[in-house]
Amino acid sequence: MQHLILDWFSREGRVFPWRYDSPDPYHVLISEYMLQQTQTSRIAERFPIFLAKFPNILSLSNASNQEMILAWQGLGYNNRALRLRDCAKAIVNVHEGMIPADYDALLNLPGIGPYTASAIMSFAYGCNISVIDVNIRRIYARLNGYSNPDEMSNKSIESFAEQIYPKGKSSEWHQALMDIGAQFCKANQANCELCPMQEHCLSAFNVRIEKKKVRRTEPSYRNIPNRIWRGRVIEFLRHTNEYRSEKAELLRGILGEPIDEKDQKWFEDTISPALIKDRLIHYDSHTNIISISQ
Ligand code: SF4
Repeated sequence: MQHLILDWFSREGRVFPWRYDSPDPYHVLISEYMLQQTQTSRIAERFPIFLAKFPNILSLSNASNQEMILAWQGLGYNNRALRLRDCAKAIVNVHEGMIPADYDALLNLPGIGPYTASAIMSFAYGCNISVIDVNIRRIYARLNGYSNPDEMSNKSIESFAEQIYPKGKSSEWHQALMDIGAQFCKANQANCELCPMQEHCLSAFNVRIEKKKVRRTEPSYRNIPNRIWRGRVIEFLRHTNEYRSEKAELLRGILGEPIDEKDQKWFEDTISPALIKDRLIHYDSHTNIISISQ
């Protein structure tokens, strides 16, 4: 099966600006950070623009909060931008600007967890390591006859992952699985008739799709999650003169007219403290001016 999948990947693998034969570890780091919570199509658009602004780890490590927040436009979850800059700073200060080719050292960097560390080891350095993200976990479970990845223990998935990837081809194998997960073996649909794994998959043509679990209700305001409102505040400020706004103007900009005391209280108690904690805004309570963090 491994040959079949690697051949399929060389013919049909998706083309992205961060995927090429000898990837630059810096490009892999940036793309993996972006991929943590953003769709690939959006990243494909923003990735070259981001690299033009910050072409290397040194330029990224020197970026101010404001530069990072502005450059992160369109990518969502803005606090990731500052974590990425902090990560670049740590790489410059602790690793002399070299992205470490060491799993444990990577794990010690801001914003890098087990998945991202293994992805960098595999995609940037071609190391023999298994990489498991949510899509790969689902494919491995289905290959073993489990429609739902929760039906297979983490330990069993990890041990299967370790055995199955072709040694020396970790990068191509795991990127192929990511493409298969995105195109065929999806959480809410399995297009087995088109999937290159079908002959080797115990779940082929027999996947039970369970109804989506009801999501925990997120703290919301006017039926929109506060997380979205926080993003809208930053997006509003990105388009203001000098990236600052008087509070009432900002509230009118994101909520529309009219705004009332309840809106003001919600902003004061919920939205601005979270944005300040994430280092995304500065709020001068004397002048009521809110600005993107410097
Ligand atoms: S054959 Fe079907 S269930 Fe198996 S990996 Fe492909 S899409 Fe998923």
